[in-house]
Amino acid sequence: VNIEIAVDEVICPSCARQGKCIGVSFDQEVYKCTGCKLCYLKKSVRTNSDNDNHWYQGLSDNADVSAKLARKYKTEMGDCYRSQYLILEKLIEGRKIVDVGCGLGVFLAIGVERGWDVYGVESSEYAAPFALNNYGIQYAQRLDALPNNSFDIVRISHVLEHIPEPREFLDKLYLLLRSKGILAVMVPNREPFCATFVNKFRSFFTSEPRLSGAIYPDMHVLGFCPNSLTRLVTQSGFEAVNIFTVSMGNKVYFPMFYDGLLTCNHLKDINLRSLIKYYLPMTVDNIGNPLGKGQWIVAYFRRK
Ligand SMILES: [Zn+2]
Repeated sequence: VNIEIAVDEVICPSCARQGKCIGVSFDQEVYKCTGCKLCYLKKSVRTNSDNDNHWYQGLSDNADVSAKLARKYKTEMGDCYRSQYLILEKLIEGRKIVDVGCGLGVFLAIGVERGWDVYGVESSEYAAPFALNNYGIQYAQRLDALPNNSFDIVRISHVLEHIPEPREFLDKLYLLLRSKGILAVMVPNREPFCATFVNKFRSFFTSEPRLSGAIYPDMHVLGFCPNSLTRLVTQSGFEAVNIFTVSMGNKVYFPMFYDGLLTCNHLKDINLRSLIKYYLPMTVDNIGNPLGKGQWIVAYFRRK
């Protein structure tokens, strides 16, 4: 084995220090940086993940079905997203936003209603036709298509944990913003309140336990805590404005039974197993919010 390659594999993608294996997730080793505490999968595993491309693949081609779904998403997420715009409107006067990884465009559709000038970037080829046909929103497949120094807000919601080389990505986002522009970030917390106890318990029996929390090969290749997220983003020149954690039931960021794919589940679809395995911990994790141990990290940064 070439030692140099092996070392490069486990170097922290945020601060370039060495990582230490802390356990496994779906048979892949998870590393934690000895400096900034960011958690991540090996470089080869991070860069080879392609399962994200299948997102939104199941969308119907039928225009009526699609339109009905589009209305449903807007109704279900409307209150939540309007509250997020209210926060953004207090942080900055300009009204030009790009949502990078905008999925089906629901957040941008609400922005249009509020008079925002909206732009989107989404790599999924399945999502763009939905946004165009149902909300009249057109967006780019690649970040490179956008002009620099032109946005008041760059939003990345549930995006950063999928990015194998986040430094390069954040540097690009920095350039897109106007001076004093805001970067709004939402990511899953790698080890929320309940997972902390589960992982601690398992670590009594093995030194590299199976890890509960938010790292999954082929999807979430990075795992954050509030500090490691702040450390990563500020390295690209941003200043932290506000960072906190939320859990299921939060009226602004995390409505009940939101599953991340914008297909809100409903009580009738939830069985006992999923209730115990997912929904109960996600609710209990609210206890962890003030400790930085909620389910999701929400963070606002400002370009200098
Ligand atoms: Zn690090």
